[in-house]
Amino acid sequence: MNVCVAKIYYQLPAGMQNIFLSSYGLYLQKIRHGQQYRDFCRQVNGHLALSKGELAGVQWQGFCKLLADSRKYVPYYRKALKDISAPEVKCLDDLRKLPLLEKEVLRTSPETLVDERYEKKKLLVVHTTGTTGTPLKIYCTPDVRKKNYAFYRRFLQQAGINYSGRRATFGGRIIVPHNQKQPPFWRYSYFQKNILFSSYHLTEKNIPSYITALRKIRPEYIDTYPSSLFTLAKYAVQQGISLKGISRAIITSAETLFPEQRKIIEDVFDAQIFDQYGAAEMCVFVGQCGHGSYHVHSDYAIIEFLREDGSRAVPGEEAEVVCTGLINPVMPLIRYRIGDRAVLSDRECECGSPFPVVEKIIGRADDVILTPDGRRIGRLSPVLKGFPVKEAQYRQKVIDEIDVLLVKDQGFSVDTEKNIIMELKKRLGGKIKINIKYVEVIERSKGGKLKSIISEL
Ligand SMILES: [Zn+2]
Repeated sequence: MNVCVAKIYYQLPAGMQNIFLSSYGLYLQKIRHGQQYRDFCRQVNGHLALSKGELAGVQWQGFCKLLADSRKYVPYYRKALKDISAPEVKCLDDLRKLPLLEKEVLRTSPETLVDERYEKKKLLVVHTTGTTGTPLKIYCTPDVRKKNYAFYRRFLQQAGINYSGRRATFGGRIIVPHNQKQPPFWRYSYFQKNILFSSYHLTEKNIPSYITALRKIRPEYIDTYPSSLFTLAKYAVQQGISLKGISRAIITSAETLFPEQRKIIEDVFDAQIFDQYGAAEMCVFVGQCGHGSYHVHSDYAIIEFLREDGSRAVPGEEAEVVCTGLINPVMPLIRYRIGDRAVLSDRECECGSPFPVVEKIIGRADDVILTPDGRRIGRLSPVLKGFPVKEAQYRQKVIDEIDVLLVKDQGFSVDTEKNIIMELKKRLGGKIKINIKYVEVIERSKGGKLKSIISEL
């Protein structure tokens, strides 16, 4: 939603907001579904029956096409790969001969990564802040989005979820105005069978209404940020309320799911969590199977696990995740340093999946911001989408105050600051003091990771 549309949306009564969201949902369905989507689904589901060797072949073929087209049609790679001849790259091991792609290139000149055969005006642009809080633009086509959803659907199917069933979502979008004091704190997207719950109204006073609504809706699955559903689950435990029978499965994504969160949520809902790790850059897809293993979907992307010196890490070793996405030929990302870390495993999963297993993803370990009215806000990076900001970090020492460290980018103005504060207040409420501090760089934590939230509470 752009700023103008959002302004109108927040003025509407709840019923009209439902109609608005449903219409928008219908538009999204159109982008995401259709005959091509069904073809993609058949294609990616077919990969599940392949042997590991056959799957490696599919991956390699996809990569060779991407590399050849990138050399020819993508300005950035024409330059970056000019000293490496095609025959030099014969197998996965040869990938290390290719340069790494820094996030800075995506941030400063994303257009140089776009295949010239596509007309930029006609492309879809996905805005993201990634896991490190840096605002980025990703170019793609409706076909690429369809392919992306085909992979997501396969993940749901593998988890035994009826993907066309009712879904409850707790995400980062502000779908209920921040000053609303009475339920409903959720809105309906009718055609998508999706009930969007606000992650920003989860106070002790409001949670009972959420529980009543969830009991009534009984979604096939709940798609949530871990921190949002954890807040609700913890309340239920404290009050001795059981949430059993509400939903059969829970999908978590976008933040690190901590063991304590998993245990409490799974216990109180009596439902299994399937955690998923992906990126709006469409260059990595990792999802949990029914046996609890995290599988790297290797037909979606090539993932390398690298040591600091660029050599390959061995299973069990913590390493940097470097991704080569295979599904977006419009903006190829080859050996992209996404900024997350993980531990590879050599374990075979009992589920029989041909996809390799990762022990854990370490990248998204973030703290939360606590608000004076007792809410835990997990992910603040959506706040900065589209703003001229290089990097950001939120620091909290006391309950009623946060420091926001910003590294400005070109085009940052007094209005930018005002708008950022306004966006933050929508999520954190009016009772917290927001101090914006401008810095040249933001200090990295151990492992070189930029933590988006640091809490000393
Ligand atoms: Zn498995």
